[in-house]
Amino acid sequence: MAIERTFSMIKPDATKRNLTGKITAKLEEAGLRVIASKRVWMSRAQAEGFYAVHKDRPFFGELVETMTAGPTVVQVLEGENAILKNREVMGATNPANAAEGTIRKEFALSIGENSAHGSDAPETAAQEIAYWFSGVELVG
Ligand code: GDP
Ligand code: MG
Repeated sequence: MAIERTFSMIKPDATKRNLTGKITAKLEEAGLRVIASKRVWMSRAQAEGFYAVHKDRPFFGELVETMTAGPTVVQVLEGENAILKNREVMGATNPANAAEGTIRKEFALSIGENSAHGSDAPETAAQEIAYWFSGVELVG
């Protein structure tokens, strides 16, 4: 398996509860390396653009509110099979369905305030990395 890069985000519900270190530790313990990281308080326009794929879903308004309610930490992770590995460590979207030991099982408050984001495929990983970072910010 080739080395991959993926985009990860620690959501406002988690930064508010000071969980940035604990969430990052779980990703690092799984073998993923943080090659870029910054704290961003998203504007409404940034949140709407980032989640544009969900714009027709009934939860879109709530999603934008939740993502602009406080700072996030946006990260690029690198490692073997990084996209799938990040999704595994993160756990199911709804914390009620998330496996033991996952970020969302341990830290999420609800399906809306579910603490973390991870890209779901190589194309979305590339798009999401480029949405938040320029090439010189990625230090592998
Ligand atoms: P993810 O890839 O596991 O984050 O899930 P999705 O791409 O399907 O959805 C993006 C984000 O929208 C999720 O992480 C949730 O924060 C939010 N979301 C998804 N489904 C719902 C829902 O039914 N209700 C609410 N309030 N938020 C949702
Ligand atoms: Mg998704």
